[in-house]
Amino acid sequence: MELNDKLEILADAAKYDASCASSGAPKRNSIGKDGFGATTGMGICHSYTPDGRCVSLLKVLLTNYCLYDCQYCVNRRSSNVPRARFTVAEVVKLTTDFYLRNYIDGLFLSSGIIQSADYTMEQLVQVARELREVHQFRGYIHLKTIPDADPALIAAAGRYADRLSVNIELPSHDSVQKLAPEKSVHTIKLAMGSIRRKLDEKAEEPRAPRFAPAGQSTQMIVGADASDDQQILTTAETLYGSYKLKRVYYSAFSPIPQSPKSVPLAPPPMQREHRLYQADFLLRSYGFQVNELLPASGNLALDIDPKLAWALSHREHFPLDLNRAEPHMIARVPGIGLRNAQRIVELRRLRQVRYADLSRLRCSMKKISPFIITADYFPANDSSPSEHLRRAMAEAPQQMNLWPELQAA
Ligand code: SF4
Repeated sequence: MELNDKLEILADAAKYDASCASSGAPKRNSIGKDGFGATTGMGICHSYTPDGRCVSLLKVLLTNYCLYDCQYCVNRRSSNVPRARFTVAEVVKLTTDFYLRNYIDGLFLSSGIIQSADYTMEQLVQVARELREVHQFRGYIHLKTIPDADPALIAAAGRYADRLSVNIELPSHDSVQKLAPEKSVHTIKLAMGSIRRKLDEKAEEPRAPRFAPAGQSTQMIVGADASDDQQILTTAETLYGSYKLKRVYYSAFSPIPQSPKSVPLAPPPMQREHRLYQADFLLRSYGFQVNELLPASGNLALDIDPKLAWALSHREHFPLDLNRAEPHMIARVPGIGLRNAQRIVELRRLRQVRYADLSRLRCSMKKISPFIITADYFPANDSSPSEHLRRAMAEAPQQMNLWPELQAA
């Protein structure tokens, strides 16, 4: 099989991994139009480095052959899809060629499991080792880690990769048992634990060998089982706390042709994945707890964002006087982000905060108006029922995507 044919199959097979968050961009190109560039370059996705730069990555699988039969996965053993396998040398060549042509800044490499977990992991490590040691490749490398692999191989992966990730797959132990019976949550967590120990060792002893400087992440599939958002976010919160993950990625389940009956026929609303990312950000950066964000139904609202939903159900905290409030409460006002909360605190050291200051800070005035008091402003609608405010602020329903393949990733 030609290298290009392999690339088409193995880049397409990798698109279901959400760790490179912008890979679901709509297809467009410049054929017959002005301009140049395309979003359809096979396997090119974007990710963010630890210093905040957006980089393009070659995102591929080493192979989509797999011994396992995870029900939600297009590459499962029983799936009737075209299969391909790169050699180590082919992935190295693609990466260096694309890099030298400025198509990519790095590599995101995952794989189905072939022969054994150790054999597969060895192949992944070998790609990274050759890139680093033979080609002196300085770009970003993200390697998916095979949970059952020997910890020595995971340690070797961390020497060459910037980031390692082990997929938790599903939000609950029972769901993993049911839908991915060849996998074990226990083994997945052992692998995460061994990565965390190595990261801690490196943090405590800077002269220790290099180990995954961009840390570890994981991916959870949303909507393949009946878990609600409470279960999903509770699992994420536990993983952040126990394994010091940099990120949990949420990947909306994407039904695949001839899906088994054990998984749903339809994908969850894409807005659900979006709300989970918003809630995840509130957990990591704003000091919210899962129980604060989830209503009794166990699922995040789809029509409004989680911070607005929290504020509407906690009107006792609002309107908040921005000239007196605790800084962490200012950041909880819908429409005020962390940076603007900081700017407001700095401003009020100099003088009283006024309504026009918020407009200058480009806060969303429609959103914040019912929730704040400034030196010259008191909201007229502070006693409006939350339901009225909610209707006024709900986002317009999105047009359904008519081309389901664009919903992937
Ligand atoms: S092990 Fe990975 S590639 Fe194989 S079926 Fe399961 S999820 Fe898919």
